[in-house]
Order: sequence, then C-alpha cells, then structure tokens
Amino acid sequence: MDLLCQCRAVPGLLARVHLDTPLTDLEWLPPQRQRQLERFGLATVGALLTHFPKRYEDRTRFDRFPTGDTAEPVCVCGIVKKTSVRRIRGYQKMFDVVLEEEAAHALSPPLLCRWFNAHWVEKMIVNGQRLVVYGKPKPSGSGAVIAHPEFEVVEDDAEASIHLQRLVPIHRATEGLSPRVLRALIWEVLERLCDDEVEAIIPATLDATPRAWALRQIHFPDSWETRDKALRHLVLSEFFAMQVSIAAKRTEQAAQPGAVHCGGDTLMRRLHAALPFPLTGAQLRSIEEIRADLALPRPMNRLLHGDVGSGKTLVALSAMLLAVEAGYQAALMAPTQILAEQHYLTLRHLCAPLGLRVALRTAARSEQSEALPLFENAAPQAPVPGGARDPRAAAGDPPTAPGARYSRGRLPHFEHPWAIYAIAFNTTEPRRLTAAARDIVLDAILHWKDLRYELFAACVMPDHVHLLIQPLIQETAGDGSAVFFSLTEIMHSIKSWTAHEINKTTGESGTLWQKEWFDRFTRSDRDLEEKYRYILENPWASGVVKEGEDYRWCWWPGSGDSSAAARPPVFAAGRREQHSGRVLHPDAAPPLADSEPHILVGTHALLYEGAGFSRLGLAVIDEQHKFGVLQRARLRDQGVAPDVLVMTATPIPRTLTMTLYGDLDVSVLDELPKNRGKIVTAARDAAKLPEAVKFLRTHLEVGRQAYIVYPLIDESEKLEAKAAAGEFKKWQELLAPMKCELLHGRIAPDEKDAIMDRFRRGESQALIATTVIEVGIDVPNANIMLIENAERFGLAQLHQLRGRIGRGEHKSYCILLRSAKAEDAALEKLRILEATSDGFKIAEADLQIRGPGDILGTAQSGLPPLKLGDPLADHELMRLARNAAFLLFERDPQLAAPENARYRSVLAEGRKLMLSQIS
Ligand code: ADP
Ligand code: MG
Repeated sequence: MDLLCQCRAVPGLLARVHLDTPLTDLEWLPPQRQRQLERFGLATVGALLTHFPKRYEDRTRFDRFPTGDTAEPVCVCGIVKKTSVRRIRGYQKMFDVVLEEEAAHALSPPLLCRWFNAHWVEKMIVNGQRLVVYGKPKPSGSGAVIAHPEFEVVEDDAEASIHLQRLVPIHRATEGLSPRVLRALIWEVLERLCDDEVEAIIPATLDATPRAWALRQIHFPDSWETRDKALRHLVLSEFFAMQVSIAAKRTEQAAQPGAVHCGGDTLMRRLHAALPFPLTGAQLRSIEEIRADLALPRPMNRLLHGDVGSGKTLVALSAMLLAVEAGYQAALMAPTQILAEQHYLTLRHLCAPLGLRVALRTAARSEQSEALPLFENAAPQAPVPGGARDPRAAAGDPPTAPGARYSRGRLPHFEHPWAIYAIAFNTTEPRRLTAAARDIVLDAILHWKDLRYELFAACVMPDHVHLLIQPLIQETAGDGSAVFFSLTEIMHSIKSWTAHEINKTTGESGTLWQKEWFDRFTRSDRDLEEKYRYILENPWASGVVKEGEDYRWCWWPGSGDSSAAARPPVFAAGRREQHSGRVLHPDAAPPLADSEPHILVGTHALLYEGAGFSRLGLAVIDEQHKFGVLQRARLRDQGVAPDVLVMTATPIPRTLTMTLYGDLDVSVLDELPKNRGKIVTAARDAAKLPEAVKFLRTHLEVGRQAYIVYPLIDESEKLEAKAAAGEFKKWQELLAPMKCELLHGRIAPDEKDAIMDRFRRGESQALIATTVIEVGIDVPNANIMLIENAERFGLAQLHQLRGRIGRGEHKSYCILLRSAKAEDAALEKLRILEATSDGFKIAEADLQIRGPGDILGTAQSGLPPLKLGDPLADHELMRLARNAAFLLFERDPQLAAPENARYRSVLAEGRKLMLSQIS
C-alpha cells in the first residue's frame, strides 16, 4: 500500500492518466500488482474504472449487532475480542472470531464469525483489531453467528478517509486483490484522471452528465442520489454502446445485396391443403411476414419466436417451400443430432407428396430421402397370386387373380371405393430410368388404362413415377356390392412387369422399384386439379427439363400418346400464372441438378463440412439458443447471403427481445393450435412414486404413451451409462409388461433413430430418457411425462420438457417428482410450473430466478457484455438508448460526419469486448 501512494504527498505533481493508459505505464504501481491486475482482466485505466462496485457499505453508520437472523445481510463494525481454532472431524478446521460492538454496553450481544478451512483468514485477524463485517446472521446460543462473512480489517492509517466515514464501494475481488486494495487503487487512479479528456459515449441529448463525474461518483459517491445519477448515466452509456452495435449490424444487413428467394406458392398451398388442420392465425401472419422478407432483394434476418408446440416447423417449412419454388435450396439446422433426425423425418414425410428431395447431414449420418410411404401404418400389401403377367398378352383378359372384394365394411383403410388416388413410386438407389426404360413404364401404364383404372395423369421421371388413377369396378358381387380392381394388384402388375422388362433391356438385375406411396384419395375437385397439375408440372418444376423444353413421358387425357407434342392447357395456364406478377430473381441460376436435395436438414455439420449447397436461398436455424452468432455468420458466408430465419422455443420476454435479438426482425407465434389437449401439471414428493406409477399404468393400458425423464447425475460416460441402466431396469420392473425403451445421449444415432421410430409407431409404451428429448420430439399419442428429481432442472428446461406432451387431443399430465432435499427456491420453480403453462410468464419468472446474464450470454447474443445494466429491470433506459442509437444511424448510416466519429470508436470498442468474451 505504501508503494502505491508514494506521490500522494505532492498532488500537484501527479502524472496524469487517461482511460486508455495501460496500467503498466503507472510507475507508482508495483510490477507484481500490475501482473495481478492483468490476470484479473484489468489492463487499462479504463478497464479498472469500469470495474464497478458490486455493492456499497454506508460506513458512516453501521447496523446494530444482530441478535438472531435478519431478513437482509447486516454490515457491522466491531473489535476482535477472541479468536480460536478448532479441529473438527480430523482434517477440518474451524476458525471462530468473537466480535464486540465498540461502544459495547452490558446487554449488547457479541457476534460470532466463523470460517471453515480458511487458513488465510486466520493469518489476517488478531485480537484488538477493528473489523467491518458483512453477511447474513443466523441465531446461535444467546447471540448470532455469520458463516464466512465478507470482512475488512480497518486500519487507522492515512487512507482512513477512503475506507471509512463514507459510502464505501465494495468491488468484486480476487486472491491478492482484496476489495480494500482495489478501492485504494481506484482512488489513486481517479486522483490522476484528466476529466477533460474523458469523452462522453452517449449524445448529450440522451443524458448530459459528464462521464468523468459519473465514473468518480459510481466508485466514491457523495450520496445515494449522486450514485443513482451516475449509475443512470453509465447504464445508458452501456446500453447505448450495445444498441449502436445492433444498429450498425442492421444498417450493414440492410445494405447487403441479397437475392429474391420467393417463388410461387403452389407447393406451399399444396402443403397447407394436405394438412388435417387449419393453420393458426399467428402461423398465417408469420408466413406472410416471412414471405414479404423473402421477396425483397436483401437478406432476411428474422426471428420466429413461439412457445413449445406453437407450430414453428410448419411456418419454417412454408418458408422453405417458397424458396424451393423459386429454384433455391433451403437448409434447416438443429442444435442436436436427435433433433435434426426428427426434423428430417417430419420434413421428409411432408415433402414426399410434393415430390421434393430432402437430405439429412449430421456429423454421424448422411442420407438422402427416398420418398417415404405416406401411410406408414398402412396394412401390408399382400402379394398377388398369379404374379406378373405380360400386359400385352393379358390385354382384354379378365384378370386371373380375383380383385379384392370390397364390401363397404371391410375396406382396408387406405382403399376407398370410387376414390381417385395419387400414387408415386421410386426406383431403388442408385437405379435410374433411361429413356427406353421410361418408355416401357409409360407403355405399361397406358396398357391397363380403361381396363383396370381410369387414368387422369401419369408422369415417368428418371427416378420415380407419378400416377393419378381411379380403379374401375371389376364386377358386381351377388349382394350388389361393387368389387373394384385392387390397388395392390394394379401396382403389382405395373411394377413387376416393368421391372422384368427393364432389367431385360439394361442387363441389370435386382429390385428396381421401392414400395409405392400414395395419397389416400383426392378429396375435392380442387385437390384433384392440384394433383393433376403437380404431376404434369413435375419434370419442369423439379428441373429435369428446362422451361420451354419438352418431356415426352408425361401423359394426360388429350395428350394422345406418349410422344406428346403440346403441354396440357391447364398446365400451361398454371405456369403462366406462376410467372406473371411474381418477382423472380433476375439472374436466377439454372435449377438444381436432379440429384441435389431441395431441402437439407442437419446439425452444425452442415456448416463445417462442404455441405454442398449449390444454391442456398434460405437457412432456418432451430433453437437459436444453442447456436452462437458466429455460426450464424458462418452460414451467411456460405453462399450469397441467404435469407436467415432463426427459430427459438424459449420464449423471451418482450422487454428482452430488443436486446437479445435486436438485430433481427421478429415474428411471434402467440397462439397455440386449437386442438391441443390440456396439460395438468402436478408436483409431488418422491415418496408418491407408487401412486404416480399406478396412474401411469392406467393410461398406458388404454393405449397412451409416456416419457419418463431422469436427470443426468454425472457427465462422465461410464457413470452415465450406469445410471441409465439402473433407471431403465427400475422402470421396466415398475411398468411390466409394458415395453420400455431407454434413450440417452450416448446411444448411437442409428439406434436412437430406431428407438424413436418404435416409440412413434406405438411399439413401445414408455421412453425412459435424459433430456435428449428436451426439444423437438413430437409424438401426439404420448400424454404423460414423469420427471424425476424435477427440482434439479431449470425452469425453462422443465417447460421445454413439458412441451413434449399435450400435442394430441388427449388430456395430458406432467408429474414433477421432487426429492425430499429440494430447497425452497427449487420448489418455487415447480410451483410456477403448476400454476401456468404460458411460456412468456415462465420466461419472466425464470429471468427473475436466474438473472438475465444466463440468457444474455455474450457468446449467444453477439453483443458487448453488460456490466451494470439489467436489460429487464432497466428496460426503459434500454428503450431510450435504442432510440438514440437508431436515430444516429438513420441520420448518418456510415457515421461519416466528424461529430459522429467518436461513435465509431464506441462501436470498435464493443466489438473488441465481444470477441474477447467469445474466444
Ligand atoms: P414447435 O413450435 O414446438 O416447434 P411444432 O412445429 O413441432 O411446434 O408443432 C407441434 C405439433 O403441432 C406438430 O405435431 C404439428 O403438426 C402440430 N401443428 C402445427 N400447427 C398446427 C395447427 N395450426 N393446428 C394443429 N396442429 C398443429
Ligand atoms: Mg420444434
């Protein structure tokens, strides 16, 4: 300390310092101290002066000595009367200090301060010293005890005026740099600071308080009022710096050249028409907002923000279809493998009827979709007796195999009398149909036309075939019911005959066709027309042939034969409609090659491996929270600034969006789909497990499914596997004979996939899982979730988990089991969950419990860190700062004016801080 204050005797001669003076330039500061400060992250005068106090002690008046516990911590000053060290339980050491009030009278109780295993404290405290002690007392015997209090030895030296008789700042300290040392040091630096050279960060219109004054008052306030005034100024400065970097990003984005990624909406409308439910108003509104962005020739940066289960996936897919229809690729990125795979399945399922290729790229797996059977649960198709016959030979003959006898009561659910079916079937990888092969297929289709079915449209593509047919009546049964040619037989004939013929011509062998998938039946004329158009547009829409070129393997009534000359009129009209009045990217590159996926689903692997986007138009990033800003930037670098849509399922209080996602436009899904079953949430003691199990069983027995979530106790691989195995065994026994499956992070991706598939198909009844099921998993039939040791999870995480149920029409139940040891704060969490399922309310509560730091982590938000301000509590200041920053950029986007030059350094400073935090 003495070394530190050598020049204090001659104040006139103090060497002046500025905010950017490195601490190593301060000759009066011993090198050892300089190194300590540097290790603590304080390298310049500016850094030191923005190491703000975490609290203050009013040392003009101390609290009275406590007699028991108090609601708030106390700050007292007293004299050390006695110290003692005791060994307890062998190695443990307990250090007691008895403190007495200075003007002690007979009745004032002594205060006991106690430390465990704190050698350094023993060395510092001796009898007769005066101590300032801060902490929360608990009752003990006749008086009170404070365990591990913050303390400071008061020395009556020349520095007393810094440490006593004032509002004293307490700074966050570290080993060797106690609050007292830091305080003295900051005092010394302030003594030497040139106020005139401390530039304001904010425009005077926002707050005219001089920054230097604010820096002085925040550390050594004259009063609480001046401290508040200083605080306001500094918080505004901090918020302003943050909003300047946001405004700069926005300005930069707005100026970036981008492409129009919005095509026609035929695909999207087809998707919507095929859904068994209407979209919510919020979904439609968000889609329109996104569509407007896609249609602008600058990159979209939009956040789609909605509670669990609000239907973000469909909004995202709609956006992707708009981009795909404009001839671009779309990518969907998920934070985890399991979620990527889930998305892949969902999209594959929804996109197959649209004839789109979806591919999966994760670090572990890469797969491109063959079209998926539309109805996975469809009854297996029985092989047809008699097998394949040469259609030419069979022409006119009644089929030898009897058609399925459809009496109305016994129809397989996928076949309906009088139905018109859209059917498609793919070749097996890697087989593709040559022109000659396509001729064979189209011939076969035409051969049975009007014999077994009415043909509306057919199109033979290089790797798949589309048909729109209505089976004819084969005969009328004795009871008067019509017997139709069965689809099974129709398909079998076409497929096996063509496979045989094609293998013969190409000399290949083996399976040519995959199982067909079919759209149950067209429900309306509009539906029929859409399918008709879709099938006949397919070669052009998928880019197999160019606009204006011919494709002879398309057939429609009136096209005459397979060598069609003219396109169907309805189709031509359709194309015209699509092109007129829509903005298409002027230099739209050639459409995707036939093998390229339209939609790519993946994890980070998409970013780091040459994922092979040839024309990435739209990137959707799911669950932004686990995805840093840097990844977002990286994605943007991949192509010509694709449009970016970020989805997050963690509801963010509105007051925070302008900070956390300040550089994004925001669409909010604030409406849940109507068909949602209610979720009842109940927290119960772990001892109630048997009752919970009983409850669970009654639901499993009537066909529902359940998730059982257990917290991951240990991160290490071995222990995790062991814990999982233990849990699994326990639950298998509890739920026998129901089939349980185990899902945790260490299970190989393929196996995980299989487990999820079985659960989705209802082959297993209960999934015993870690939080790997936290996001995205979607099984409507699962209506019960039991969470063990629920108090160990975060509030937001519990809400996410609970979002896995309540997805179907069944009433759902979330049982939160709490262990007997759970603390009050944890129980409060569970109470909030019991009371509400509104994600926004939960997010607010969560913020209050955790503080915004967690959500506002720098690496996540890409913003300079906040040291003083609380964007939640001080949101009014945030709004003021935001307005000022945005106004600045509106007037001078380049900050070119001389008077705005200083904001450029504010910006640079913010970026530096941010990067240092990320790395
Ligand atoms: P999240 O917003 O959590 O990502 P999802 O997109 O996974 O939600 O949707 C949850 C479930 O709700 C899915 O099964 C989806 O098919 C269904 N869904 C989406 N939109 C609607 C709607 N408008 N009406 C009914 N169900 C819907
Ligand atoms: Mg989702």
